[in-house]
Amino acid sequence: AAPVLTIDGPSGSGKGTISRLVADALGWHLLDSGALYRAVGYAAGMAGLDLSDTEAVTRCAQITKIAFRDPKDGGETRVVVNGHDATDELRTETAGAAASAIAAIPGVRAALFERQRGFRKAPGLVADGRDMGTVIFPDAPHKVFLTASAAERARRRHKQLKEKGLNVTLASLLHEIEARDARDAARVVAPLKPAPDAVLIDTTGIPVGAVVARVLDLLRP
Ligand code: C5P
Repeated sequence: AAPVLTIDGPSGSGKGTISRLVADALGWHLLDSGALYRAVGYAAGMAGLDLSDTEAVTRCAQITKIAFRDPKDGGETRVVVNGHDATDELRTETAGAAASAIAAIPGVRAALFERQRGFRKAPGLVADGRDMGTVIFPDAPHKVFLTASAAERARRRHKQLKEKGLNVTLASLLHEIEARDARDAARVVAPLKPAPDAVLIDTTGIPVGAVVARVLDLLRP
């Protein structure tokens, strides 16, 4: 099977940025598993479902069409949900909260299991998420778990959202991120935690380039 590098961690730990840069450097495929959960939460909202209706949301996870499209001009990857480009909607912290709510439903996680495994293709895959190293690719040869202080994670998310023209206060973001992480860590299915064989990297105050170099170093024989 093609090699996999799993990069797990809480929101704002730098996973998204680091995963993309490492995948580019290696020429490997990239799986943004959070986008799948966000897409299901979004589709459930569009269908007017009650997010606590586990059966309806599980069914929604089974039938929702999710596609990643890379624009020819090299711009950011677009996420197409049931034929609609939902990239901008999926970025918001509202979408993150909805994703976290539906991600606690075992049926939803089961529905996305094989879909995620399907991303494993030659020459290799960088898998970004919460349970990539523990549940989806437990046999991955390379595993990383990124952390950063809550304050730093909120600052990063704030900067990211501001660059996209979304205005939220830092204080409210810190509060929302802490609530989401607490929920992700406390859930019964696939709680957020490092795989026993993951390398822990605290990215607080470390420049992106240095973290990328550190991760690439792990892949060298
Ligand atoms: O990484 P991102 O912030 O896009 O993820 C959104 C939410 O999706 C997380 O807070 C988490 O609840 C859920 N998620 C998950 N398992 C993954 C990826 C994301 O439960 N592998």
